[in-house]
Amino acid sequence: MKNKNLHFESKCVHSGIGEYEFGPVVPPIYQTSTFKFESAAHGAALFKGEAEGYIYTRMKNPTIEAMENAVAELENGYKALGCASGMAAISTIFTALLKNGDHVVCSKSVYGPTLTVLQSIFSKFGVESTFVDTDIIDEIKKAVKPNTKIIYVESPANPMIAITDINVASKIAHENNALLVVDNTFMSPALQQPLNLGADVVLHSMTKFLNGHADVVAGIIVVKDEAMYSLMRKTLNQMGGVIDPFNAFLVHRGLRTLSVRMQKHCENAQLIAEYLENHPKVKWVRYPGLKSHPNYELGLKQHKAPGGMISFELKGGFKAGEIVMNNVKLCALAVSLGGVESLIQHPASMTHLSMGEEARKAAGISEGLVRLSVGIENVKDLIEDIEQALEKIPEKEKIFL
Ligand SMILES: *Cc1c(COP(=O)(O)O)cnc(C)c1O
Repeated sequence: MKNKNLHFESKCVHSGIGEYEFGPVVPPIYQTSTFKFESAAHGAALFKGEAEGYIYTRMKNPTIEAMENAVAELENGYKALGCASGMAAISTIFTALLKNGDHVVCSKSVYGPTLTVLQSIFSKFGVESTFVDTDIIDEIKKAVKPNTKIIYVESPANPMIAITDINVASKIAHENNALLVVDNTFMSPALQQPLNLGADVVLHSMTKFLNGHADVVAGIIVVKDEAMYSLMRKTLNQMGGVIDPFNAFLVHRGLRTLSVRMQKHCENAQLIAEYLENHPKVKWVRYPGLKSHPNYELGLKQHKAPGGMISFELKGGFKAGEIVMNNVKLCALAVSLGGVESLIQHPASMTHLSMGEEARKAAGISEGLVRLSVGIENVKDLIEDIEQALEKIPEKEKIFL
């Protein structure tokens, strides 16, 4: 890694950028499915692994490789594998590491489809999963069994922005011959580097902060050594969930501004979280940069800054949530997160509407819960927008008339 001694901000700009024909300063988009061999002998040498080069884009492509090298360097990993989505990364990891009879301990508040994949797909192949609050370390210890192969953690995790101690979780995993897999989507390597904290495999939905511009769906797996790389590469190549060259190019472009974007996300989110915490119509706010966060101290130790994701509860419940959604003008009403634009979401009337109130309650999704992915706009504009939307909520008594 030629950028080893550079600071993180410089690595963002320079990682994965190589030398190319005609001297472009960014990697060209090699939008090709396949590569010509010079001769039968050359083709044979490539297939035998005796020559360096490219065969077919599902296996290896220079544009994809450039982006993978960049992410590996930013996460301080050995190598990385670009995937078609965050879920492709997650399902590739499970497919590579698990077999019939194995057990997974997973965060209860993990990204929804991750939970579903374990519960309804991997269970078909004899993989058993236990879901616990991994931010309570004893819960992880209690859930581990002799056949546990993976402890799977997302930190911070929705909806309560729960923080799990990655270092302690890795120790529990290793004492039990299991691996710690960390979904680092919410933080990005600019704020948290799980491999340095003891994780064995890190993944991202690059759809979010890594690409950062809400125009790509993509994922990545980062590993620590050749053995793990080779296992993941074989699995990904065979299962087929690879990223394509154009998306890899866009993500690589996004990575170059990761550091400055994350700084701004954090700066804005801190100010908005403080504003919301003092607002009379807001019951509570969850943000790792607030002292009211139950794992505030752990956060200070584990990540460089508290990130761009805020959850808060409106005193007026479901109705108040709907009113805020219908009145924000600058914040876009949308799921997903991590883009330059601020996105707002009300789980009870949107993503979790079909569950019904009882099931939402059981899952910890309260009726007035709002999730905000804070963008990099001017924070005064964002606060003004939230302020005028909150003003539209009538006094408490009137909501229920
Ligand atoms: C979005 C997301 C995923 C899934 O990523 P896709 O790119 O949508 O497949 C996984 N984990 C977390 C934390 C996410 O936010």
